[in-house]
Amino acid sequence: MSDAPTTPQHFIRQRIADDLAAGSPARGWAGRPGPAAEHRNAPPDTARIRTRFPPEPNGYLHIGHAKSICLNFGVAEEFGGRCHLRFDDTNPEKENQEYVDSIIDAVRWLGYSWDAGGESDLYFASDYFDSLYRFAEYLIEAGHAYVDSQTQDEMRARRGTLTEPGTDSPFRSRNPAESLRLFREMRAGAHADGSHVLRARIDMASPNMNLRDPALYRIRRAHHHRTGDAWCIYPMYDYAHPAGDALERITHSLCTLEFEDHRPFYDWVLERLAEGGFFDAPLPKQIEFARLNLDYTITSKRKLQALVADGHVAGWDDPRMPTLVGLRRRGYTPAAIRSFCERIGVTRSDSWIELGQLEQALREDLEDAAPRATAVLDPLRLLIEDWPAGRVEPCVAPVHPAHPERGERTLPFTGELWIEREDFEETPPKGFRRLFPGNRVRLRYGFVVECTGCDKDADGRVVAVRARILPDSKSGTPGADQYKVKGAIHWLSITHALSAEIRLYDRLFTEPQPDAVEGGHLAALNPDSVRIVQGFVEPGLVDTTPETRLQFERHGYFVTDRIDHRPGAPVFNRAVTLKDSWAKRK
Ligand code: ATP
Ligand code: MG
Repeated sequence: MSDAPTTPQHFIRQRIADDLAAGSPARGWAGRPGPAAEHRNAPPDTARIRTRFPPEPNGYLHIGHAKSICLNFGVAEEFGGRCHLRFDDTNPEKENQEYVDSIIDAVRWLGYSWDAGGESDLYFASDYFDSLYRFAEYLIEAGHAYVDSQTQDEMRARRGTLTEPGTDSPFRSRNPAESLRLFREMRAGAHADGSHVLRARIDMASPNMNLRDPALYRIRRAHHHRTGDAWCIYPMYDYAHPAGDALERITHSLCTLEFEDHRPFYDWVLERLAEGGFFDAPLPKQIEFARLNLDYTITSKRKLQALVADGHVAGWDDPRMPTLVGLRRRGYTPAAIRSFCERIGVTRSDSWIELGQLEQALREDLEDAAPRATAVLDPLRLLIEDWPAGRVEPCVAPVHPAHPERGERTLPFTGELWIEREDFEETPPKGFRRLFPGNRVRLRYGFVVECTGCDKDADGRVVAVRARILPDSKSGTPGADQYKVKGAIHWLSITHALSAEIRLYDRLFTEPQPDAVEGGHLAALNPDSVRIVQGFVEPGLVDTTPETRLQFERHGYFVTDRIDHRPGAPVFNRAVTLKDSWAKRK
């Protein structure tokens, strides 16, 4: 394993490479998380670094999380380390097993694993509740924490502001023995929710608000999805997180920039607990990076949850959602998402990334990977008047134009075809090269035809186009090239085509920064973010299984819907158009 990866450099890779080059004290690893006593006599860790991805199971993962997943799992892989998946489940009211399962699926789907060499690095902060409690008792005994019995309002009033220092709680000088007694009573359920909190004793005058005696534990009678009713006090994230990192011997704890101001408290917790003998050096180091902001997209779990709850989308996995389940259902590949995350890089300055970049990563992945097929989305009849009744002429088309080795598909040609309504104009605008009376076009992979006219209904709407065949013009036959035509259009035989539901998706928001819109992001919802059409696809797709990706020529990349697609009743979702149509619209 090399310290100098060939992938693009960024400051976190550089930092890890530097740390490894500098060497560090041997880190024992007992094979599972635990306090120093367990790791101290264990063999040195074979993992050169340990990182973790720490989601809270209170929602589905989204594209922003993908950046963190790719970074944490990615650097662990590159540097010969390991990445843990740790559920930060310290907030029981909002968390549940459904979210745990969906997060596990999503990380696996992206292509990462926490299982190797007989070690499974899947952990839960709730597994550490006993340790965290024990550490808290130590902090109280050592004078580093106290039970505060102020009301929430009193606490808030004494917290101070960014420009004014806070004031000490009247309970700050409570002696350790009394705090310990109260803390034990809190745990035993003797006190009402909210009546006391355990706080770190640091500095109420600190310019960093996070050091003004932050809370460590709160009383909360809530059923936990894993520990049930065993606890009625729960640790705060800012306390549980560094301790969890140290128990797991994380070396590089990567998080988003909003935690920068929390780092002094992160270090405070680790240093105090190391003094207590619970952790040995080297202690985990927190390193912050900029979160992903994607335009035309919302990445707040709370707002995504509300979009689902209020019925603006059909569910967390609606193909318009930026969740990983949504992107998956839309047709995104794990490779495209990983490549996008690599390409946007990792920096310390906040910026907006264009949604077009994510779409482009998908096009690039599918351009080579996706087989080609024909679909007619807005069908109009084309009648070839001089085609012999009943004759079926097989025409061949490549599965992929750049990969002849992938074989061919057969399109049966008959006298009654579906073409796209937009491919015919009775009175063509200037430059129109497709079908209009008197003009010749090639029916792609088939024959050249010459338009002879059209049929209309009582309202004047065109219901069929008429043409005559040029019988010696079949693609791939000698002499076919003698017909020089300017346009080629796609088609399907009416008797052979399969009827299909086709879902055409567009951006969920019409504004690049939906949150900045007056009236909030809901005011920027795109009313036309999905259009469902009943179209036709080529007969060879009859046995297509769910989640098959392909390119419908001219229309874009599509996927058979994971949930609704049936062989007899196909459903295709458009993942992305062939070109960025939004770039033009602007
Ligand atoms: P919540 O508001 O529920 O805390 P969250 O998006 O922070 O939402 P977490 O489950 O706490 O969700 O996130 C897990 C990890 O993913 C965290 O380390 C967080 O920093 C990272 N993360 C979340 N959103 C983004 C983003 N937009 N870009 C990069 N990383 C992100
Ligand atoms: Mg969070």
